[in-house]
Amino acid sequence: MIKVLIEIESSKRSEFIDITSKVRSVIKDKDIREGVVNISVPHTTAGVIINEGADPDVVNDIGMWLEKIVPEDLQYRHLEGNSPAHIKSMLTGASVSVGIENGILSLGTWQSIFFCEFDGPRSRKVWLMI
Ligand code: ZN
Repeated sequence: MIKVLIEIESSKRSEFIDITSKVRSVIKDKDIREGVVNISVPHTTAGVIINEGADPDVVNDIGMWLEKIVPEDLQYRHLEGNSPAHIKSMLTGASVSVGIENGILSLGTWQSIFFCEFDGPRSRKVWLMI
């Protein structure tokens, strides 16, 4: 197994950061021809998803939907005050896997990989395990 760390600086409280080109660069640099890359976020208030990257309004709409279904004003007990971010992280999930064939990521035409920030801005990590 090859393990590679990608470091990300988020700049907003909530944001979706397209990391597809970073993942492609690692696959190319490591000269991986066939396999699977697992993209994993070791954080409890962030996530990773695969969704449309062609129209940025899609992830904006997903973010708007998450704001709507995860209220900020419930009587949360977690003292850190960021329970909505923990819940959004649970909803998006902490990892995705993508196949690699002939050195190419097996993504659909419109698919991109997004790091999901829910409690930024801060420094974040993404692990690629190939
Ligand atoms: Zn917390």
